[in-house]
Amino acid sequence: MSFLFGEHVITHDGEYFCRLCQHQYPSYDAICSHCQAASHHSWCQACELVFPDETELWEHLEDPRYHNLCLHCDGKVDFSDEEQLDAHRAEAHFWCPGCDLTCASKRSLNTHLIYEHAACEYCFECFEDMELCRDHMRTHVPDEYRCPGCGDKDEVFSTTIQHLESSSDCGGYQQVMRLVKATPSFRDFYIHSGSGFDFYCKSCLRRWSTLSELALHLEGANDCGWLLDPDEAFSSLRQLLGRRRRQDLPTQQ
Ligand SMILES: [Zn+2]
Ligand SMILES: [Zn+2]
Ligand SMILES: [Zn+2]
Ligand SMILES: [Zn+2]
Ligand SMILES: [Zn+2]
Ligand SMILES: [Zn+2]
Ligand SMILES: [Zn+2]
Repeated sequence: MSFLFGEHVITHDGEYFCRLCQHQYPSYDAICSHCQAASHHSWCQACELVFPDETELWEHLEDPRYHNLCLHCDGKVDFSDEEQLDAHRAEAHFWCPGCDLTCASKRSLNTHLIYEHAACEYCFECFEDMELCRDHMRTHVPDEYRCPGCGDKDEVFSTTIQHLESSSDCGGYQQVMRLVKATPSFRDFYIHSGSGFDFYCKSCLRRWSTLSELALHLEGANDCGWLLDPDEAFSSLRQLLGRRRRQDLPTQQ
């Protein structure tokens, strides 16, 4: 005696018995079509298994050991593994794996990630806490800069500084000095020497009378360009003037 199609069909000496229906079948073909077609019980074609009812069938279908069905797609697609199913749920259903939560849109998932999982507002990577998230967010270099005076934007940092220095309407040199002093690490590129050449490159030690000249030097000179790296002295000033264009900027409800 052995089992066929799970634990509900017994086969013995070429005879087949459905324990659910208490009925005997004379051949393999007969029991097979009984199991597939019967309205008495449920059938999983992929695994060739009989289940007493729909509830047990669905328990089986939702078991990742056997199937990787997306229930949000009414179980129409069976993914080859859990990883592919998860990728589908994240992409098609804006799914948060941490909460097993499905969101209505990419935007609401992103908002959820930011407020519930300390996610980065730019790349939506999640962190243990806000502290770590803030540290990470500093590594995103701004992709445009804005004059705090008139709001003019430019993609080049030194151009924005140049604009500030030359426009008295936007604060001129005074404004540049205010910004430099608002930057905790300003001593890394500013030292009052009395000679008028107060800005210096700590990599090659050359000096300039204006911040924009130093910024231009860093943008142009590959050997000193590392001073513009996210962790370096210039970064806080760049963050201060910087703006990142955010495609999916969440709005707090
Ligand atoms: Zn049966
Ligand atoms: Zn199955
Ligand atoms: Zn789906
Ligand atoms: Zn979540
Ligand atoms: Zn990020
Ligand atoms: Zn301006
Ligand atoms: Zn240099």
